[in-house]
Amino acid sequence: MRIQKQSFVIRDSRLKTKLETRNADPEPSETVMDALQKRVIACKTCPRLVEWRTTIAEKRTRRFAEWKYWGKPVPSFGDTNARLLLVGLAPAAHGGNRTGRMFTGDESGNWLFRALFNAGFSTQPTSTDRSDGLKLYDCYITATCRCAPPKNKLLRDEIRNCRPFLLKELSLLKNIRVVIGVGKIGFDAAFDSFRKLCRTQLKSRPKFGHGVIYKLNENVTLIGTYHPSQQNTFTGKLTENMLNEIFTKARKMLDRHADAKTKKGSLE
Ligand code: SF4
Repeated sequence: MRIQKQSFVIRDSRLKTKLETRNADPEPSETVMDALQKRVIACKTCPRLVEWRTTIAEKRTRRFAEWKYWGKPVPSFGDTNARLLLVGLAPAAHGGNRTGRMFTGDESGNWLFRALFNAGFSTQPTSTDRSDGLKLYDCYITATCRCAPPKNKLLRDEIRNCRPFLLKELSLLKNIRVVIGVGKIGFDAAFDSFRKLCRTQLKSRPKFGHGVIYKLNENVTLIGTYHPSQQNTFTGKLTENMLNEIFTKARKMLDRHADAKTKKGSLE
């Protein structure tokens, strides 16, 4: 399939320069983040998920019979100085569990990366494998759990076991302004983590829905989106336009935030 080299443009040249500088000049927190992701990859805390991810990796599926599956917990990835954070469910058995990168190698990833690309958060609209050259701009992707679950269903204990990784990531990602909860589980995990870190004034967990927006605190907004699972995209519950709108909304929020900061700076 021919990929159209279309509109990946970061329109604000100051922002572009800033992002390039940040990407070229690693912050100390990246080292801590790298160490954290190494711990994730080595984790064997959930027996059911360890069993499932390794069995899938051994058996594979005919379509990917030539692949050597990753078969381990899948680390988060992206720009550690990002202002946009995505919290998903968990890797797919033949997607992230095969390729070793979140939302990579399956239809959900294709949907997600087209939307990220259209809104200027990724360098390309496809995500096929770990060496495909894809980079995220101002965006970081993580998940509720890092191991593929049977039938895409997580147990409560598994969510609880994996939570410390998400909490640690949130403490390292200092610039987050917009969080997108991808699916109800990701949305709830994002909110619960902010609450656990005492970073929200909301007393109770907000209601999930596609396009819902909640202010977690003065600086951070939480947006909900339906998960781009085939169950949602095949049935038309989620369309490409609906998903694009979520990321366009996030882009506008971040732009407004940057404008407000610039104005404040020029008044000082
Ligand atoms: S889901 Fe999280 S806690 Fe459980 S085994 Fe995988 S990485 Fe470890």
